Amino acid sequence: MGGDNMSIKNVTVAGGGVLGGQIAFQSQFMGFNVTVYDVNDSALKHSEQLMTSYPDIYKNFYADGEKADKVIENIRFSSNLTDAVQDADLVIEAIPENVNIKKDFYEQLSRVAPQKAIFASNSSTFVPSQFVDSVDRPEKFLALHFANQIWVNNNAEIMGHAGTDEKYIDELVKFARDIRMVPFKLNKEQHGYILNSLLVPFLDAGQKLWANGVSDPHTIDKAWMLATKAPMGPFAILDVVGLQTPYNLALSRSDTDEEQAKIARLIKEMIDEGHTGLAAGKGFYEYPNPEYQQESFLK
Ligand code: NAD
Repeated sequence: MGGDNMSIKNVTVAGGGVLGGQIAFQSQFMGFNVTVYDVNDSALKHSEQLMTSYPDIYKNFYADGEKADKVIENIRFSSNLTDAVQDADLVIEAIPENVNIKKDFYEQLSRVAPQKAIFASNSSTFVPSQFVDSVDRPEKFLALHFANQIWVNNNAEIMGHAGTDEKYIDELVKFARDIRMVPFKLNKEQHGYILNSLLVPFLDAGQKLWANGVSDPHTIDKAWMLATKAPMGPFAILDVVGLQTPYNLALSRSDTDEEQAKIARLIKEMIDEGHTGLAAGKGFYEYPNPEYQQESFLK
């Protein structure tokens, strides 16, 4: 390593929502100078609000979690993009999953960010080449994808497009380690990265077995868990994800796919009853102490 811009100190996170807030919090916790950029003051207040539960979680989770108490006061919040990125070495984009919103953002960002800044997208479903025309520094543009609850689900997938310079990929691998993530470097672009390329079809297969009346969610989970020794089956995982996401996905494919329409109908019944998954205390299982974690489940 070496060169003029190969050391990340100042990180700006654009979009202080669920994931952006977690990325900002984790990065400041690990000693980076962090600025959160969002559209206006009320969005920034909301971002700060989302972070208030993290210090207690970090104290339980990390041996050095005490320092989480100081994180929020050490983060700079700004709704002015020029100000927010003025000395940024790395800008992590975590704004809504919408192509046009992201394109507009990258065009604005390219106009005001210092040349040294690397741009990284946390997008779950898009790939960098979809936005590369909106970026003035294609060689410094790539994806850095985190998972919800990043302190515990600490995988970070790092993926360039064909024109990304390898040295920035390596730089983000190092950054990911510096904030206690386990980095996974992809060799080429892939929608859904490694994890969701495996997980989404797996969850879909489980839901189809259910929607087609082949079996019920608990039996499907048991069959998977017993045979593979996995700690969770597809429906336990769906509870963690929350049922709104699979519902939206099934609904968006319903027009052309009768199986997906069946899945959407079944999940909608659960959502209408408030059984939206782990966060709601009930989904395919009841929480805490879901049945699949009890020894008797696989007997
Ligand atoms: P969110 O809705 O919680 O947060 C989005 C934030 O972006 C909000 O604070 C909003 O005010 C802000 N915003 C809107 N337009 C903006 C703009 N033009 N400039 C700056 N900020 C703007 O969304 P999220 O769940 O945090 O997802 C954000 C990104 O992270 C998406 O690309 C998503 O695919 C990705 N992601 C989400 C998860 C997840 O589990 N939620 C996991 C991995 C990756």
